[in-house]
Amino acid sequence: MRRVVLIRPRRDGRIFGKAPGAPYTLMRLASLVPDEIPVEIWDENLRDLPLDTLKEGDLVGVTAMTVDIDRGETIARRAMKQGAGVVVGGVHATLLPEHVQTFAHSTMVGEGYFTWQQLIQDYAAEGVKGLKSVYRDEEWANLDGVAPLTDRVIQMVDERNNYWTPYMEITRGCPRNCSFCTAIRVSGRRMRLRPVDEVIDEIERRGIKRFFLTDDNFGLNFTTDPDYIAELFQALSKLDLHGWTCQSEMSIANHPELLEMGLAAHLDKHFIGFESVNPDNRRQLGGKSKGLAASAEEAIRTIRSTGIGVVGLFVMGFDEDTPATFQAMWDFIRTSELDSISATMLTPFPGTPFRQLLEEEGRLLDMPWSTYDTAHVTFQPKNFTVEELRSAYDWLCRKTYSPMQIARRGVRSLWRYPLNQAGKKLFGSFSTDYGYRRTYAYRNS
Ligand code: SF4
Repeated sequence: MRRVVLIRPRRDGRIFGKAPGAPYTLMRLASLVPDEIPVEIWDENLRDLPLDTLKEGDLVGVTAMTVDIDRGETIARRAMKQGAGVVVGGVHATLLPEHVQTFAHSTMVGEGYFTWQQLIQDYAAEGVKGLKSVYRDEEWANLDGVAPLTDRVIQMVDERNNYWTPYMEITRGCPRNCSFCTAIRVSGRRMRLRPVDEVIDEIERRGIKRFFLTDDNFGLNFTTDPDYIAELFQALSKLDLHGWTCQSEMSIANHPELLEMGLAAHLDKHFIGFESVNPDNRRQLGGKSKGLAASAEEAIRTIRSTGIGVVGLFVMGFDEDTPATFQAMWDFIRTSELDSISATMLTPFPGTPFRQLLEEEGRLLDMPWSTYDTAHVTFQPKNFTVEELRSAYDWLCRKTYSPMQIARRGVRSLWRYPLNQAGKKLFGSFSTDYGYRRTYAYRNS
């Protein structure tokens, strides 16, 4: 066996010379490769891939989400043609393994903590013919001591020079089961927690000062495990961090002491899934939100009053949505005190209850996976034609991401900081909205 090559297909490319987010999942998997086997991480967002160097003796692992699985397939087929052993894993492989099996020697279903090292051994022993067609984690691993990042991987990736945003994981899982979300199938229903000392050790060894948490619903832990969160915040408050962000739900507004502790722990913004301002959609929202604009506004005010920012995450195109929902959404965006806004199109990802419903009702459109970017209409809506839903969404995005609106929210966000920090926070105050504007713009490019 020559080497293990782990590949992330292109999605965003570089922005001002750096790729947007570090390949954290591949960093964890690369850390499980035994020391005696060379391992490389190839990120196509960062540079063109030297695919012509792949050959027999290489074990190639491709990870892909649904939106970039087509590019993942192209890479996998080419690597197989040149004689390498190819395994495809990640979110799409976990949700739709029968698709991935058509273009890889092996499909890795689940997190890989129980099977990845076995797969490497099988390939090292017998090459391609030693590989099973599916490696499936049958249970959710305890996160205690799982795949700590090795120093060789940390040095290889060089996050500080190559990436704008390092990612980090502290907890994993979400029991909510919102009808459109893949988290319960990809990360599990049970919330799992990494030991606080491992989290601190990893941050220190990586030398990162900022990070975005990949946790599906970090904020739910405020309610389910407040002692753990308090211990974590106490430990993080002792580090010299510039700020970090996480995905949450509005129930964190019920925990003022933890919000205060979070601020001391350098927590800068919560990305909160309000999802909708149409209460008729509440059944789709897993019990975390009732789709009431007034409750959302109150939660935003409470959280922001502690000095922490709120990015609002919203999904458009539910079956109960009508043209009036778009107007209500825009009214909310205009008048709420959010720091940034993500307005996405409902997308029927494989394995979700929403997709199952569309399949039963024959409402899935025949669209390439690359349109599963949460900015395209990929199904037949209930109260709109496809074209009407598209143009309602365009209308909302044009208004939400106009330079004037981005500037307004950016200045509001900047206002949260003491004057002597304003310079340092300038980029971060505008970049979140700018990133969402860019995502929406993909569709029209
Ligand atoms: S609360 Fe968030 S992470 Fe959990 S199922 Fe709903 S959308 Fe997914």
